[in-house]
Amino acid sequence: MENYRHQFIDYSPCNLPVGKAVCVGLNYAAHAAEMSSQQTADPLLFIKPSTALVPLAGGMKIPTELGDCHFETEMTILIGERLSGCNQAQAQKAIVGIGLALDLTLRSLQTELKTSGQPWEKSKAWDGACPLTSFLKPEKIADLQNQRIRLYQNEQLRQDGNTAQMLTPVLPLIVYISRFFTLEPGDVVLTGTPEGVGPLALGDQLRVELGEVLVETASVVGR
Ligand code: ZN
Repeated sequence: MENYRHQFIDYSPCNLPVGKAVCVGLNYAAHAAEMSSQQTADPLLFIKPSTALVPLAGGMKIPTELGDCHFETEMTILIGERLSGCNQAQAQKAIVGIGLALDLTLRSLQTELKTSGQPWEKSKAWDGACPLTSFLKPEKIADLQNQRIRLYQNEQLRQDGNTAQMLTPVLPLIVYISRFFTLEPGDVVLTGTPEGVGPLALGDQLRVELGEVLVETASVVGR
């Protein structure tokens, strides 16, 4: 397992432990459409354990023996306070960082699991399935719901969305999550992917961008 620690872009100290990732599926209509998935009435939640969290920068390891692995680029919130049954003001106050994650998904395996009515877990929660960038401090982001998210694969623009397109915006999403799962300091919340997801190949060079303020690159390697 990679030795992952949460980091701030400005290198200020971050003493938060590495917790779980709580994720939402189908939070952008255009992505639900490209997956031929029905939008759900309530947010569709799933969890990646702390063992899935790895640094995005540098070599990103994918398990090629388990079938095709898709990228999903998602704005990600670093939680700094315990949240259980919280309201929006408490959710807002608990946000200590904003970054990007790749919700790596073993797509063929996911389809197989979905078809046979099994949970997605194996396709979404494996070791290394949640590469994370460093985090910006919240004061660097003027409006959480107006951030451009881009992913370039070998210099080709593959994903170009905006957090304005989220079906459940960040604060109501955190409130909803906290009804089911207590969020603890060091947990992260992945807020869903815009359209344009696709398969990774060994040797790919990736660049992810959040607005103009966060840019990180990664290369895809075998494990
Ligand atoms: Zn996702």
